[in-house]
Amino acid sequence: MTTATSPTPENVECGQCDDHFQPHASVKGSYCSRACYHKDKGNNALAQIQNDHRFCSTCFRQVKTVARPDDDQLRDIGVPKTIRETFAGYQYSTDATVFGEDIRPSERHESPARQKTRRSWGCQCGAIDLRGRDRTLESVEGGAVLLNLLRCLATLYQDEAIAHAPSLEALFDGVRESGDLEQAIGRSLYGSA
Ligand SMILES: [Zn+2]
Ligand SMILES: [Zn+2]
Repeated sequence: MTTATSPTPENVECGQCDDHFQPHASVKGSYCSRACYHKDKGNNALAQIQNDHRFCSTCFRQVKTVARPDDDQLRDIGVPKTIRETFAGYQYSTDATVFGEDIRPSERHESPARQKTRRSWGCQCGAIDLRGRDRTLESVEGGAVLLNLLRCLATLYQDEAIAHAPSLEALFDGVRESGDLEQAIGRSLYGSA
């Protein structure tokens, strides 16, 4: 990693941290170091997982599978075109799914008889917000998190949602050496790139 210097016209800023460096010293054109390159790539992959509602962002277990019938099948059962165009598929639970019951905020003041509960999708690790990362739950899960994460990245790669297949060895080495999950994910996906 280069030492931080004040920006001058010929210095460029790292795409990940606040460091500035000479263009000839860059890693992949826009980073001050391989660590920053990996962290940026890892951040992107993590954001992708958080936006993919099939996975828990805390322990990375798959809590949903989505299956979409053929357009012809949907048409045969009378689903209109406008709905077919936006229909992502049916959602199914997995072994890791835990359903919770929640009351809509607007109905909390109502008498229990008038309240409607809605089913919420939660995870076996205890997470109820599948998009948020709960550090406490994550630390309880320990090493299982990395194996789940590897499986999650492999699924995203199979779905062609990410461009590189994950490496188990690089993921574990990355966590061991940097203690930084984002950096380890980047190394797992882009270690040799
Ligand atoms: Zn940097
Ligand atoms: Zn979880």
